[in-house]
Amino acid sequence: MNFRKNVSTLKLPHYKSTASIEPVRIPIPQEVLLPMSPMNKHGATNAEPVVQAGDHVYVGQMVGREKDRGSAHVHASVSGTVKAVEEYRMNGARALAVRIESDGKQEPSPDLRIPQPTNLDEFLQCVRDSGVVGLGGAAYPVWAKLSAAQKSHIQTVLINGAECEPFITSDHRAMLEHGDLIEKGIELLKQFLGSEEFIIGIEKNKPDAIAALKQRFVNDPAVKVMELGSVYPQGAKQVLLYNATGKVVEKGQRLASLGVIIINVSSLIKMAEYFVTGMPMVERIITVDGSAVKEPKNLIVPIGISVKDLLPYCGGLKEEPGKILFGGAMMGKTQESLDAVILKATNAVVIMDRKDAKATEPSPCIHCGRCVAICPLSLNPTAFDRAMQLEDDEQRAALLTDAQVKVCMECGCCSYVCPSHRPLAATNSAALSFMRSWERAKKEGGK
Ligand code: SF4
Ligand code: SF4
Repeated sequence: MNFRKNVSTLKLPHYKSTASIEPVRIPIPQEVLLPMSPMNKHGATNAEPVVQAGDHVYVGQMVGREKDRGSAHVHASVSGTVKAVEEYRMNGARALAVRIESDGKQEPSPDLRIPQPTNLDEFLQCVRDSGVVGLGGAAYPVWAKLSAAQKSHIQTVLINGAECEPFITSDHRAMLEHGDLIEKGIELLKQFLGSEEFIIGIEKNKPDAIAALKQRFVNDPAVKVMELGSVYPQGAKQVLLYNATGKVVEKGQRLASLGVIIINVSSLIKMAEYFVTGMPMVERIITVDGSAVKEPKNLIVPIGISVKDLLPYCGGLKEEPGKILFGGAMMGKTQESLDAVILKATNAVVIMDRKDAKATEPSPCIHCGRCVAICPLSLNPTAFDRAMQLEDDEQRAALLTDAQVKVCMECGCCSYVCPSHRPLAATNSAALSFMRSWERAKKEGGK
């Protein structure tokens, strides 16, 4: 991988119409459905349900137990009765999910306690108990990321408040509403990780958040609020790392070996909230926007609520949806229906009308090289495209490995600039998923 240091070429329309809209907590829905998987792109393992139909549950009670460092505990976001443990399907993945009918009381679990860790191991265990995962979309358990501190000294914590994707403003609003929790999170990381430097990287299209955080940390020399250019994909790990610290992480190199970790700002806030309230992650701020939505808003919603149940709080839809995305216009994942449920890492629901959703028919590649020139990682998406057309799995895997598909971060820049409208990002996604299944099958001796 040859990281391209200048990524200032892709300036997208921001569509951040909800940036000035304070998040509103919506009434509790009649039911929620809590998948045991973060349904993310990294093929995380699933948690195991620990409740069954008929059980009474309280808010914050564990209903799914993590299996390993790739999964996270799942907690009830409403109090009430477990109606079923059933299969849930999303983006081609399947997982068990716990359906809970709310009793309308929102009674917190009597077992919840404010954590009081005294050392790094206890701190990591508390973060693990909180169920907080990477809320920028990765959904990787936060405790597992922080556990890098057990092996390497983490000198610098890079707090990702870039939020470069069009439409999404949930991190922006979280930074404005929860400066106190950002401060608390930084205190905890100073105390338990021993980190000396904290950089909060924010795109300059959020001047109010930059000003508020600069003011909050004016007397703390360890914290630097860094204004970043509004270019896409500013929030991508490699891009943010380089722009904020001048460092470059090479293929196969752990970020922690550079003495750095990157944490999404909303993840930091949720982690800190657990240490203040003792309540695990059961709700989040999401942006609801897109051309089909009557009143775009930021909402505070319980995890597991369906899109259908939150739409009335945005005035409903102007017309039948043409496309439903979880996430922004560049990296968002298409959802099959309004029954899709909000997951921990769902930062936005973007619903396009039919006109905006209509994709332009792709035409053959004209070998212009724009996709290669724009890729922040200097990858060649046309090679992935060619590989995916091969019938032979071995040959396909060899070509994809050679072209380093596994470092693709699915940012979508290549698709965006392609004059032939080739769906390169979707092909990359399919290629990554092929590689995961191929490697899994090989490991299990099936190849
Ligand atoms: S999606 Fe395209 S531009 Fe982005 S990293 Fe992958 S190949 Fe490069
Ligand atoms: S940008 Fe599109 S047309 Fe140009 S080389 Fe890439 S795939 Fe081909």
